[in-house]
Amino acid sequence: MNFLVTGAAGFLGAALCNRLVQAGHNVRGLDDLSSGDPARLLPQVHLTRGDVNDRPKLWTLLQGVDCVYHLAARVSVPESVLYPREYNAVNVGGTVSVMEAMHDVGVKRVVLASSGAVYGEQSRQPLREDMRPNPRSPYAVSKLAAEYYVRTIGALWKIETVALRIFNAYGPGQPLPVAHAPVIPRFLKQALTGGSIVAFGDGSQTRDYVYLDDVLDALVAAATAPTVDQQVINVGSGEETSVRDLLSCLAAVTGRKLDVIYSRAEDGGVSRMCADLSLAAEKLGFRPRVGLAEGLRLTLERDPRFSLLKVAN
Ligand code: NAD
Repeated sequence: MNFLVTGAAGFLGAALCNRLVQAGHNVRGLDDLSSGDPARLLPQVHLTRGDVNDRPKLWTLLQGVDCVYHLAARVSVPESVLYPREYNAVNVGGTVSVMEAMHDVGVKRVVLASSGAVYGEQSRQPLREDMRPNPRSPYAVSKLAAEYYVRTIGALWKIETVALRIFNAYGPGQPLPVAHAPVIPRFLKQALTGGSIVAFGDGSQTRDYVYLDDVLDALVAAATAPTVDQQVINVGSGEETSVRDLLSCLAAVTGRKLDVIYSRAEDGGVSRMCADLSLAAEKLGFRPRVGLAEGLRLTLERDPRFSLLKVAN
């Protein structure tokens, strides 16, 4: 098949592009490289540097494409609290631009990377797709708006759409920015360098951590699954893990004694998150294969930033 992946040089985008070309598909990538790194991509991936709001560029890249993976986005909950306009322009505006360009060119299907963040605070777990979303951050609002846009425009213009609500993905290659770094690579680095680990909140908050390869399985399945049009589908591990449990698991996997400081919770976060995976199993044949301890071990082993740190310290 012929694919266009937006956000192709990002953590999930690059791993997806590489998986697709290894399976023999033709893959074009678009990324403005605002945070992405082209060095992550295999040479067979045709990367174009550009903005997802650049429709003429999209028209060119979409020629002959069977399915678009729309992953380009600004991705940090705490950053979105500071820059909501930017999150709206890229995550919402960019999604509408992709849909318009797909309509102009006549592309049949889009898979949107949405987020478990759209659920926000809920009174029940696990989180099911039919629960009423309760977004708590501009990031979560932007992802929910993108879901509604693809579904509504798709129905009007006969474009097949499926939105995957990805929970907390982690694995080798996950970015570790100086500010607002995701929790697993940040904790791993701090554990291996022997510094104190700063955890936001009291350690009781829970998340559903899903390993990269499992997310890729769901993304790959979504391109061809027969009954997913208009659907919103959770992609997680189905396991609820507290920060304290994550830290114990990290201590066991790294073999280090961890010094943890608990600090004030960040704005826009929620107390509990765990994905119900019934719909993913039914529609995508999805069954996560990598548990947390195994996923942390694989991250440590396969990500040179961490394997080298482990040896050095
Ligand atoms: P990432 O930041 O590594 O990747 C996003 C990519 O989009 C980056 O390479 C960035 O350069 C690019 N980008 C940003 N703005 C752009 C623009 N205007 N035009 C073109 N490219 C642009 O993040 P990721 O973790 O790989 O996330 C990929 C997608 O999956 C995002 O849509 C994110 O919201 C979604 N998602 C990720 C997770 C997770 O845990 N990683 C969870 C839920 C949803």
